[in-house]
Amino acid sequence: MSYFRPEIERMEGYTPGEQPLGGKFIKLNTNENPYPPSPSVAAAIRSAIESGLARYPDPLARAFRERAAALLGVEPDWIVCGNGSDDILTIVTRALVGAGERVRYPYPSYLLYGTLAAIQGARCEETPFQADWTLDDAFAAPRPDLRCAFLANPNSPTGTVIPPERVLEIAERLECPLLVDEAYADFAPSHCVDLVRRNERILVARTLSKSYALAGLRFGYLVAQPPMIEQFRKVKDSYNCDTLSIAGATAAIDDQDWFRHNRNRILSTRGRMTDRLRRLGFSVIDSNANFVWAEHADRPARGLYEQLKGERILVRYMDYPGWRDGLRISVGTDEQMDAFFSLVKAMV
Ligand SMILES: *Cc1c(COP(=O)(O)O)cnc(C)c1O
Repeated sequence: MSYFRPEIERMEGYTPGEQPLGGKFIKLNTNENPYPPSPSVAAAIRSAIESGLARYPDPLARAFRERAAALLGVEPDWIVCGNGSDDILTIVTRALVGAGERVRYPYPSYLLYGTLAAIQGARCEETPFQADWTLDDAFAAPRPDLRCAFLANPNSPTGTVIPPERVLEIAERLECPLLVDEAYADFAPSHCVDLVRRNERILVARTLSKSYALAGLRFGYLVAQPPMIEQFRKVKDSYNCDTLSIAGATAAIDDQDWFRHNRNRILSTRGRMTDRLRRLGFSVIDSNANFVWAEHADRPARGLYEQLKGERILVRYMDYPGWRDGLRISVGTDEQMDAFFSLVKAMV
């Protein structure tokens, strides 16, 4: 006899990347930003503390939504905020998907989609990417029990991107919402926010964790047409974003110069890092994100991961059954990448 719903007993929990507590590690394993957030973030948080924490936060995070809407060219009622974009994914899944129904996502991709579906007692359909990292029409095919399709774009762990024209085509064929997870879109040449106007089924999730260097603050948001936002609002916790994260996130998006400067540094490091890996015999997929997927013909990825960990450099070893295993390596600072390469050179 179990206290738990059978779906919960049966499922495996999601395993996030390692966050070591002690010791000095160079962390290239969870796609965090290697640079600090804008100094105005800490200032805004301090000032929010001084104003007091006795009251509940603004349940609708209006300050953030107004600034983000202006930046994205929508109105504030096109945005709902969350405790990281994982919270947005949770809200969307809970609102759309019931037990026995179905979700679809590409393979290999972000593992959390399957976990969220399992919590609902829903079925998962994993559509493999084509050899050139496009998605064929199987991903776009409607079916009556399909309630939501997830598309990480750029994708993790590959860093590949589906162009907006194709995303729109997919959404137009699908009869259910398409959640475009843009956690890495700030590092890519294109994004899909402008498509939200063209099709009510397109939902775009964003996060401040990666490009704004605020993974520890927990702030994400969804862009969708207002009637959709209204439904999602019913599902979220009333106070899913706290006073400090709303203040910090608003200050972060207000400092676009800081954001652009660090984003550009990451893009140049990504280019150099890709070339260096290839010269060392790795095959590297061209990335549109702040990480690269790398495999070495002669050296198994797991061994490299373990050797690097022994030297206090963490990368993400990933094994996708039926696809392959490899290393997902986040883009660090140039100094971090130099330390990484001086070790890797000796290992391959
Ligand atoms: C990092 C990541 C997220 C989650 O970001 P948070 O806002 O920190 O919850 C969502 N989707 C993908 C594909 C990610 O890599």
